[in-house]
Amino acid sequence: MDLQPILNAIADDCSKEKERGVVASYIPELAKVSDEKFGMFVLDAQQNEYFVGDAHERFSIQSVSKVLALAQAFGIVGRSLWKRVGVEPSGNPFNFLSLLEQENGIPRNPFINAGAIVVSDVLLSTLKDPKQDFLAYIRELANDQSIVYDNIVAKSEKDTGSRNRATAYLLKSFGNLENDVEEVLDLYFHQCSVSMSCEQLAKTFFVFANRGYCTRRNKYLNINQVKRINALMLTCGFYDEAGEFAFEVGLPGKSGVGGGIAAVLPQQYSIAVWSPGLNKKGNSKLGLNALEAFTTQTNLSIF
Ligand code: GLU
Repeated sequence: MDLQPILNAIADDCSKEKERGVVASYIPELAKVSDEKFGMFVLDAQQNEYFVGDAHERFSIQSVSKVLALAQAFGIVGRSLWKRVGVEPSGNPFNFLSLLEQENGIPRNPFINAGAIVVSDVLLSTLKDPKQDFLAYIRELANDQSIVYDNIVAKSEKDTGSRNRATAYLLKSFGNLENDVEEVLDLYFHQCSVSMSCEQLAKTFFVFANRGYCTRRNKYLNINQVKRINALMLTCGFYDEAGEFAFEVGLPGKSGVGGGIAAVLPQQYSIAVWSPGLNKKGNSKLGLNALEAFTTQTNLSIF
């Protein structure tokens, strides 16, 4: 199927949209991005590329990185990971704290902040040079050595990250962090600060569409690990809007407060969209609209 005319029409519709959502400002650096940006990139199973708009411009991937950190940690420690982090949707915002206390320091899933901080702790305990090794993992998946941390965004978040700090200390008090809180947070903030384009994200997420094999056909995950990660993306990938995303779009995916969304249709394609304005639940407003239009017009969703 030629997806290009569909992408063009979606971008055209999005460009006319007046209500573009609100750019995140709780991390001061993110507030500097224009809400006019819009990009989309699709990589199909044969690795044909389709794109539109600002698909090659880099942005802060933020929580989209949680999937990549999970993949690396799961690949290293396997199923023992689930002793320290659950696999249920939380139905609460990404930085919600009280549930963590009620549930004795075991985060609901790896895509809320508490869960991702535990995953960072696992990486810190198992990698030789965690920051470099995590970046190297993404670069390999994307087959792109130019991917880097945005140290200004990482610092901006470090300076204002009281809630994540509170989360990490609560985890530590329950014995669910092995390493020093500030070291864990340093890795977590850097991981969130990675800047990538829709093209790079779609190429990286190809591994989840392609049974654990990257675009160069190297194997990173086994098929059961891919099944688990995709299940988590479907049920927990969109803050407390995962049900709505499954209903409207019907793809496993993950969003971030930088306005990026990456999603996959197993064995068919990976897709990334970016529009910085967020809806009330913290998901990219136009990103959601665009993906809904894409799966509806192509009839290509998991349902
Ligand atoms: N780095 C952000 C935070 O921890 C990630 C938020 C997100 O994209 O959901 O607040």
